[in-house]
Amino acid sequence: MNPIKLYNPGPINVSEDTYKAMSTAMIGHRGSDFVNLYEDIHPKLQKIFNTPEPVYLSTSSAWGIMEASIKNLTSKKVLNCCNGAFSDKWLDVSKRCGLNAESLSAEWGSPICPEELDKKLSTNEFDVVTLVHNETSTGVMNPLKEISEIVNKYEDVLLIVDTVSSFSATPINTEDYKIDVVLTGSQKALALPPGLALFTVSEKALKKAETIPNRGYYFDFLEFHKNWKKMMTPSTPCISLLYGLQHQLNKIFNEGIEARYERHQLLNNIVHSWVNDHGFEHFAPDGYRSKSLTCVANNKDIDVPAWIKRMREKHSLIINGGYGKIKGTTFRISNMGDETAESIKHMLEAITDTLP
Ligand SMILES: *Cc1c(COP(=O)(O)O)cnc(C)c1O
Repeated sequence: MNPIKLYNPGPINVSEDTYKAMSTAMIGHRGSDFVNLYEDIHPKLQKIFNTPEPVYLSTSSAWGIMEASIKNLTSKKVLNCCNGAFSDKWLDVSKRCGLNAESLSAEWGSPICPEELDKKLSTNEFDVVTLVHNETSTGVMNPLKEISEIVNKYEDVLLIVDTVSSFSATPINTEDYKIDVVLTGSQKALALPPGLALFTVSEKALKKAETIPNRGYYFDFLEFHKNWKKMMTPSTPCISLLYGLQHQLNKIFNEGIEARYERHQLLNNIVHSWVNDHGFEHFAPDGYRSKSLTCVANNKDIDVPAWIKRMREKHSLIINGGYGKIKGTTFRISNMGDETAESIKHMLEAITDTLP
């Protein structure tokens, strides 16, 4: 049987050359071999994060750092911006951590409204805001610039941004927008297997973490920082994934980061044309659509699971049949990672061929 090519928005397809890089012989994590590996990837990561601040490596999925960031930084109350499955869940996680938490909600399919955020923050109840930049469940990309400008009006409020499905597909201006924590994961736009989270923390946020008791060990930001100074990690990291990351970063900079962003825009446009040409509608409004995936409204009421089964059996590829409460009423097509115009067109032909 052919391997199934994944066009669902994560985990996505991993290239053969990346798997090969991941099978590089093992090294110790407390010696110069590891320091050399971290020193090689670190400046490249800083460029993609657009920050002069440290970039830390966490052997966990993104949720590890999503949970860690609210636990390390909240003393008063966290405001979770909620407009999709991942951002809604972040509120649930805040409560499970025993934190004071409240949501600023928008309908699934709508972006977070900066003016409403301003209103909430003007109560002075909050010291942390969480935002999912690219809501992978709905295909909505939130207005990061406008939201960061609002948060930056409030000196004592820290902004944590999940860029799990947008990092390396579209620019993230960590420094310009003064974002305190930016985090991402390996299995989405970076086109690596799951298991690695990457994040950067502002000096202001590290100072805040110093005042927070019971940060634990595994996800303690100060522990990450202490080890970062030696170009190491608190505990044994997923070294094979880091070899994969090193390889992907070399590919990103060989292509050129701007060229990569343009490629994602082009591939996204190709998918959008398909949506229009086939009488489907976008779930996300114009002006707020993700660059790395497309969430399509199933306005023709087709049997999405049966369609995906046909494309899997006939063409050995799949898209995604919708997530959470919009499963079946939407479907999602990823254009993340190493895809080309040719591979995206091939996928679109295959899904068209199997349409009911
Ligand atoms: C996939 C995803 C996550 C969760 O990542 P895990 O690797 O499962 O922890 C969080 N946020 C967004 C926006 C995602 O797309």
